[in-house]
Amino acid sequence: AQQRYAGLRDLPASAKCGTTIQLYMNAGLMADLPSLENSGAEGVGLFRTELQFLARTRVPRRGELAALYTKVLENAQGKPVMFRTLDIGSDKVLPYMKPQDEPNPAMGWRAIRVGLDKRGVLRMQLQALIRASVGRPLYVMFPFITEMNEFEEAHRLLMEQIAREQRLGHGMPTDVRVGAMLETPSLAFAPKKFFEMCDFISVGGNDLKQFFFAADRENERVRRRYDTLNTSFISLLEQILQRCNDARVPVSFCGEDAGRPIEAVTFAALGFRRLSMRPASIGPVKHLIRRVDLSELRRVIDDARDIGETNLRGPVTDWLARQ
Ligand code: PEP
Ligand code: MG
Repeated sequence: AQQRYAGLRDLPASAKCGTTIQLYMNAGLMADLPSLENSGAEGVGLFRTELQFLARTRVPRRGELAALYTKVLENAQGKPVMFRTLDIGSDKVLPYMKPQDEPNPAMGWRAIRVGLDKRGVLRMQLQALIRASVGRPLYVMFPFITEMNEFEEAHRLLMEQIAREQRLGHGMPTDVRVGAMLETPSLAFAPKKFFEMCDFISVGGNDLKQFFFAADRENERVRRRYDTLNTSFISLLEQILQRCNDARVPVSFCGEDAGRPIEAVTFAALGFRRLSMRPASIGPVKHLIRRVDLSELRRVIDDARDIGETNLRGPVTDWLARQ
């Protein structure tokens, strides 16, 4: 299948209407890096840093992490890499971390909640990221932000580490861009100031969907029960796009759904201009985007909603079959 899309590698994901969608890849391990070149991804839209922590028997040291992040950035050859700070807890339990006995880990002490409560590890990770980015731009995003003050605090923590590195006489990144992952419905309704504070926003559709539909993404019995193309979820995505556009903050979608061609073209028709997905999905998604007129698809979506459809999958699939 990869062969089939190889010819598309260096072509843009430009739809027939002329709109171009940026396709980024998700990564987390060194083994993912060759895919950046092979897939034609424009960058890494989500680098899951916890995977490096999970693969060890003890907390990695700052020097080790800095060396690792340097390697990632060297491999990326100038393409942007958005590093997500540790998202542990929930389904990702570190072997050397005291297990928390929580009834609902996905809604428990995880991600930025751990980072802000136990700041040592987050500080160390941020220092490693800053050191790896000397002379280059640094993109950092914080996972599982639920309300504005968490982002403010995480942002402050990063700025403190930058000031510290400067005090110590270390080199600096050429630019620092700070983003938030929007993966809880509450953040879509945060104050305008939140959106204005972010340099970029990345929608974590996997978590966002599980909390929107109250359906555990790990639970086989319910995880596929609700469709991403359900019009209620689509309305939430539109709300997010609207708020990001009002604040002029770039927004991308980085959940697994971004790598499913039908979902991906629908997101593009709604207004997402950047999608981040597993590398193997870039070919199929690009192939479909290049075949469609997104403004026409937008009309199909609006018409379906006008007549009271509660799911866009049927109308979108029918329309695609006619292209
Ligand atoms: C998400 O929640 O959509 C996401 C990208 O993060 P993860 O899958 O690592 O939770
Ligand atoms: Mg998530």
